[in-house]
Amino acid sequence: MCVPGCQEAVRNALSRRGFFKGAVAAGFAASAVEAATAAPARQFTAAVDLTHTMSPDFPTFFGVPGIEMEKKFDIKKDGFNLYWWRIVEHAGTHLDAPIHFSEAGATAEKIPADTLVVPLAVIDVAAKAAQNPDYLLTREDLAAWEARHQRLPDNCCVAMHSGWATRVGDAGKYTGKDSSGVFHFPGVAPEAADWLMKERQVAGLAVDTLSLDNGPSKDFKVHYAWLPSGRWGLENVANLDKVPAAGATLVVGLAKVKDATGGPARLIALV
Ligand SMILES: [Zn+2]
Repeated sequence: MCVPGCQEAVRNALSRRGFFKGAVAAGFAASAVEAATAAPARQFTAAVDLTHTMSPDFPTFFGVPGIEMEKKFDIKKDGFNLYWWRIVEHAGTHLDAPIHFSEAGATAEKIPADTLVVPLAVIDVAAKAAQNPDYLLTREDLAAWEARHQRLPDNCCVAMHSGWATRVGDAGKYTGKDSSGVFHFPGVAPEAADWLMKERQVAGLAVDTLSLDNGPSKDFKVHYAWLPSGRWGLENVANLDKVPAAGATLVVGLAKVKDATGGPARLIALV
């Protein structure tokens, strides 16, 4: 039994379905042609891992393990493997969110994805740092980079390559801790960070050492200026000697945890 107009409605619905089926098939055919003729989607030739492997032995600022792992399930007993982690937000290769050194800055989950995929500018100060473990990247180092590679690109990450990444297997060498407990490793000069904030459009600052401020710093001037300005920082970056000084794109795969002041990040440079 069908009310007046019902059969017509059913007929229309059936033919519409037929039309959609046809449209979907046509769409598939069109996209197959496009796929055959389109340029390759991958616009880079290599992905360089700028991340250190994290483990309880990785040198940390506080001298305690940055990660503890407890095996809760084992495949032989439970049918699958699973650890519980207890981690320090700021250990290993990680990001400092603006909230880390400010009262109202962005927390990790609020950092827009758009600012986490950026041009990478690598400033090589390894020769100077080899002579002076407390070396501070200067405004002159930035000027020298620009003289060779033109102006720092907008929304870039400026990364200090001090050569410290190769020391990471030896906590004493990496932290440079002396007999009075003072650290010795390179960082960024507060004046250089100020200049970047005022004169250039920079999204983030990265270092291949434990801290944006150098080892002996007690006032953390760069942290207190840079992070409250809404910019992020990266610490313990690896393999900066394996990427070009200019031209790579940095992808910051930051853990997205609510209210986090930073967190572990998988850093990949597209070259
Ligand atoms: Zn940090």
